[in-house]
Amino acid sequence: QVRVRFPPSPTGLLTVGNIRSALFNWAFARHYGGKLVLRIEDTDKARNTPEALQYTLDSLSWLGLNWDEGPEVGGEFGPYLQSERMDIYADVVAKLLAAGKAYHCYCSQEELDQRREAARSAGQHSGYDGHCRALTPEQVQAYLDDGRRPVVRLRMPDRPITFDDLVRGEITFLPENLGDYVLVRANGYPLYPLVNPVDDALMEITHVLRGEDLLPSTPRQIALYEALAEIGIGAGRTPKFGHLPFVMGEGNKKLSKRDPGAGLGEYMERGFLPEGLLNYLALLGWSIADDRDVFTMDEMIKAFDIRKVNANAARFDPKKCEAINASHMRLLEPADWARRALPFLAKAGVLPAEPSEEQLALLNAAVPHVQERMNTFSEAPEMLGFLFVDESEFSIDPDAGAKVLTGDAGAVLEATSKALAEVSDWTTEAIEQAMRASLIEGLGLKPKNAFGPVRVAISGRRISPPLFESLELLGRDRSLGRVAAARA
Ligand code: GLU
Repeated sequence: QVRVRFPPSPTGLLTVGNIRSALFNWAFARHYGGKLVLRIEDTDKARNTPEALQYTLDSLSWLGLNWDEGPEVGGEFGPYLQSERMDIYADVVAKLLAAGKAYHCYCSQEELDQRREAARSAGQHSGYDGHCRALTPEQVQAYLDDGRRPVVRLRMPDRPITFDDLVRGEITFLPENLGDYVLVRANGYPLYPLVNPVDDALMEITHVLRGEDLLPSTPRQIALYEALAEIGIGAGRTPKFGHLPFVMGEGNKKLSKRDPGAGLGEYMERGFLPEGLLNYLALLGWSIADDRDVFTMDEMIKAFDIRKVNANAARFDPKKCEAINASHMRLLEPADWARRALPFLAKAGVLPAEPSEEQLALLNAAVPHVQERMNTFSEAPEMLGFLFVDESEFSIDPDAGAKVLTGDAGAVLEATSKALAEVSDWTTEAIEQAMRASLIEGLGLKPKNAFGPVRVAISGRRISPPLFESLELLGRDRSLGRVAAARA
């Protein structure tokens, strides 16, 4: 059975890179009917707070990336918070030491630096030189008498480490580039290169799909999985690896967590749809078909193939991200669209948090006319505000007024008033007919000059839902009132 994991360090920030890793693991697990394990890598107490953990869980839930084992849902391989697994790590380290797979190293930082420098100037490799690999009991005693406290290092095998990366193909690391590395600090603190593979082994993870930035740690981790298997810890096999391509931001530099657009919070605030954001993130390295960018998560699950992920760096394109989101917004049922827009309208003060029947009916009626015109829900208040604002508070954006309500605008609005006053059946078609007859045929105006001033008069802005529909939605009295007010 496929078992994959998503192991975030809960620091209160989830980046698009993290989310893409979570998404690919999720899609992989779902494709094979396997399990996604959510493991919280929170051993660094200073950086990981309960609030940050909650934020991570809430974010994943918002995205719809559900996990089968982990916090909130439990599972038979728990606990799933590394901070609750310290005894397990201590036990594993004791076993690695007893079996000679790991050893205590007493070298001080100065000694390491000195020897590394000497090796470098002699043109040799500068990783750990194995100084403490075979200390005699007397040497150990001397260090202890000296008050030194040891770190624990893994004894790396003296042979190349080769693996078949699911994304990048065969990769080989040579032993001279892989010194014995530190698993546990002198103060007893277990490090990521220890706890991550130990948990993968104990949680019987079959595939590790993660960012390319972690590729250098993979051969060392493989050596540890092998050592664990040899002493009977975990499932006894090394997972398969797939390293997902880098995500590049502006100026072709690796997207950093400080770059605009890098953090999930921004997308939530701007009113992206989770499925829109996930669809875009899926395109960072994967595609469903050459001629197709927009797909549902169900379609992704069905088609997902880690072997088809492209190893080349992917460029993060905020414009395309918006466009994909817009496509998903168009696919929503109007009632669903309205429901999702509500919090944004309420936050902007356009509607109360619990709107009246009448307000909801107006919103629902407006949706089909605006659904095509928005990239994110945070644009909804701008687009729809004019429909809900109290007449006493309606005002025209000064900039739009200055640009559009000039020249012939007075005459246009006067003719509009007359034409609209005579419309008996207040429908989009009748409104359009009356206005065209009066302004285009009657006054001989171009549509832009004819309808621009009316748009600004009734919506207060230069961009609004389609004009005739807007007039219908607004109703006769409010429309005529606003046109009259704009003339004054
Ligand atoms: N906690 C690590 C991180 O967030 C996990 C890396 C991995 O997938 O192995 O970078």
